[in-house]
Amino acid sequence: MGIVEKMRLDGKKGFVTGAARGIGKCTAMAFAEAGADIAVVDMDIEEAKRTAEEIAAATGVKAIAIRCDVTDEAQVQAMVDQVVAELGGLDFCHANAGICINAPADEMTYAQWKKNLSVNLDSVFLTDTIAGKYMLAHGGGSIINTASMSAHIVNVPQPQCAYNASKAGVIQLTKSLAIEWAKRNVRVNSISPGYIGTDLTLSSPTLKPLIEKWNAMAPMGRLGKPEELASICVYLAGDTSTFTTGADFGLDGAFTCF
Ligand code: NAD
Repeated sequence: MGIVEKMRLDGKKGFVTGAARGIGKCTAMAFAEAGADIAVVDMDIEEAKRTAEEIAAATGVKAIAIRCDVTDEAQVQAMVDQVVAELGGLDFCHANAGICINAPADEMTYAQWKKNLSVNLDSVFLTDTIAGKYMLAHGGGSIINTASMSAHIVNVPQPQCAYNASKAGVIQLTKSLAIEWAKRNVRVNSISPGYIGTDLTLSSPTLKPLIEKWNAMAPMGRLGKPEELASICVYLAGDTSTFTTGADFGLDGAFTCF
């Protein structure tokens, strides 16, 4: 089998969290286009159902929607169990759900800090370890986490210390799991997108007005698109990336190069 053919995901089964919309929706669609059966996991079950129907209609794979709050251990366990039961296994997952709380550090409440860390970092620990335990016991798998360029730089002008700290944590968690599981055939990698045009940025009353300022700082002068991130995730889920683990992929149009 040639290398490009080997990149396909036919017969594989996986899930994406935060997949009802945005980056997660786009990677779920790309996994399905590559042939994988897919679970669209999100708190917003109505939107997740619409996304799963769209993916199934466009690609012909099995696509299911699962309601899950990724900060709740019991819900994550039940979600992984449902993926295995309904899709017939679990070969890869993309822990992607996240939120951004913007507040100056001296005004941020401890509750806001904990909320951002819980959704962005604790959830990745839960998703990766619960999915990972299944993969370790069933021959292996590939885990992809969504970090951010905010793990590497401090975004300006908006204050977002909790978001930045949470995403830096995602990268170190990714590397730690990659080392622990390197000899057991479970690979763990992360992606670090720059500013991407999704509801998180385009519909946020605090972030949307900043887009012109970000574009003025961006070497490419524009936001990225979700579809500009998806192919690396297909690569990571598949069998041509078997020597790739513990890596973080910067997908930011050179924003972090200076
Ligand atoms: P989005 O807001 O468009 O979509 C996020 C999805 O996650 C939503 O469908 C939401 O319902 C779901 N979600 C939120 N909390 C959840 C929870 N507790 N349990 C389950 N689902 C939950 O965001 P996006 O722009 O697509 O971002 C996806 C990921 O990419 C996030 O981790 C984000 O931090 C990261 N990211 C985004 C950008 C960007 O500029 N958009 C840049 C870098 C990294």
